[in-house]
Amino acid sequence: MFSGVPPVHLMWSNMFDPKRPKVEKAVDWKRLGRLFLPYWKQEAIVIGCITLVALLGLLPPVLTMNLIDKAIPSGNFQSVVVIVGAMAAAALVSAGISALQGYMNSFVGESIMRDLRIQLMTHMHKMPLDFFTSTKTGEVINRVTNDVDSIDGLVSGTLVMILINISVIITTLVTIFLLDWRLSLMSLVVLPFMVAPLWPVGRRMYEIRKATREKRDEMQAIGQETLSVSGIVLLKSFNREIFEHDRYHRLGTDLMKSEIKLAMVGRWFMALISAMVILGPACIWLYGGWLCIHSGITVGLVVTFVSLLSRLYTPVASLAGVQIQVMSALAVFERIFDYLDMEEEKDDSSLPRLRADAGEIRFDHVSFAYPNGRQAIVDVSFLAKPGQMLALVGPSGAGKTTLSMLLPRFYIQQEGSITIDGQDVRNVRLSSLRENIGIVTQETYLFHDTIFNNLVYARPTATKEEVISACKAANIHGFIEKLENGYDTTVGERGHKLSGGERQRLAIARVLLKNPHILILDEATSSLDSENEALIQEALTPLIKGRTSLVIAHRLSTIIQADLILVIDDGRIAEMGTHEELIQKDGLYNRLYKTQFRETAAV
Ligand code: ATP
Repeated sequence: MFSGVPPVHLMWSNMFDPKRPKVEKAVDWKRLGRLFLPYWKQEAIVIGCITLVALLGLLPPVLTMNLIDKAIPSGNFQSVVVIVGAMAAAALVSAGISALQGYMNSFVGESIMRDLRIQLMTHMHKMPLDFFTSTKTGEVINRVTNDVDSIDGLVSGTLVMILINISVIITTLVTIFLLDWRLSLMSLVVLPFMVAPLWPVGRRMYEIRKATREKRDEMQAIGQETLSVSGIVLLKSFNREIFEHDRYHRLGTDLMKSEIKLAMVGRWFMALISAMVILGPACIWLYGGWLCIHSGITVGLVVTFVSLLSRLYTPVASLAGVQIQVMSALAVFERIFDYLDMEEEKDDSSLPRLRADAGEIRFDHVSFAYPNGRQAIVDVSFLAKPGQMLALVGPSGAGKTTLSMLLPRFYIQQEGSITIDGQDVRNVRLSSLRENIGIVTQETYLFHDTIFNNLVYARPTATKEEVISACKAANIHGFIEKLENGYDTTVGERGHKLSGGERQRLAIARVLLKNPHILILDEATSSLDSENEALIQEALTPLIKGRTSLVIAHRLSTIIQADLILVIDDGRIAEMGTHEELIQKDGLYNRLYKTQFRETAAV
């Protein structure tokens, strides 16, 4: 057998799926080709190696003929030694070239995979926020991991395997026709009979393998859901351990059965192939024997033909089986290209950078509807003077978060304008806009990393002293110091090893390190105890000082401090003024204050 060709049963396992994926769009070959272009030198070496190995592979059978027909009958042992030596040398050189080809092939394949992975992930990071709110996280992750992985086989294995097979078939065909056309024709006639019976088995294997994969995916999904921190809390709080055990057991058993079936079909399949290996050559022996007796061809020629036959039918079988793999991989390529073609957030580098030295924010008749048509903001106008603190209050779902998201251009309003120090946020470079805005969200997100690394995410160049001083200002330094590993303590998945209050103070320290001119703060709704409330209040003072801030306020202390309160109701500004002014008005704010803020203040 020649090197580099995967076993036939693997090639066939993906064949003849009744639901085989149809490539609906024409495959963009040019685009596919561009992926390979940077590595053309290595690819040229791969093709050169493949051709050499295919040619060297012909030597042993041809030498065998000389051995049987000439060297042995002549009684010259020296000739025997030379021929056998040449056979061994051909095998050794071929192995060396195959190793080089394997390395180059992996290099090209894995380089393309790396390029694609990076391209896709970088593109994803540039997608607008709306994409993430309207797409399942699992689907996005699946696309950037599993989809890319599933074409790894094509890029780093299948394409080369096709080249190897084609070169082996061509070199073998030329050789056998040069040796004897009658036996060659016989070999070609026999070929379909050997290949045809393998088809239904291939289809069966594909079906079982598909079912196995589905079971695996289901088990993986359960794992992802129930092994996350939130998932395990849900499971434990509803006592669903037995239910989950049964569900997993059922799937596990199904998977086990599928795997056994696959192994058994594989076994039958291999037995069938073994039978073919004998039956195919048997036909050549029969016809070759007849020719030996009646037409005077040599025994060596028949032996050579039989060994060359395996060089013919194995690659033919492999090529026939590879079609579905290629088609499925092309479909995945199209899916990846679709993702790559989705529009990124626009960040025109020709636009000027935002200069927000003062930090005045102006909303002028701003209206915004989500892509699903939900009108979240209607005709909102207000002015936040430099350094002022604006509190956004209002019932749940009124549009407070949406309003704050328009400022850093997470969403873009359809009507009206938003300016910072007189510059329209749509007409400045996006990166400069976000550089100037610090955001502390209600749900503080921390990476599963050390406290220090989580903090310097805001400014990777920050020194340890700067980190400590930000943490002191955010009232969290004392707490961190008491931890066993101090700033090198790992915070756990999403920071779950910390309390909500501690997480929020860390987030405040993180924004202090960034030191933006403008601040958006979404206060935590969960009521904190008075000690934590005081700690956060102290942490907020340096954060808010000297910055223009939009605070989605849930705490009375924050609201009373605010220079201006915007009461949002159903996307509109219902009332605007200071705490005292609004209380006197006796409108929506007064009602909210009585029911909501006074209660939280009492905690
Ligand atoms: P809460 O105080 O409960 O956080 P909120 O005042 O911040 O509420 P928003 O989150 O701004 O309210 O939501 C305003 C409206 O927009 C709500 O009706 C909400 O359902 C809708 N909405 C929010 N996000 C989206 C989205 N990505 N797509 C479509 N509609 C959305």
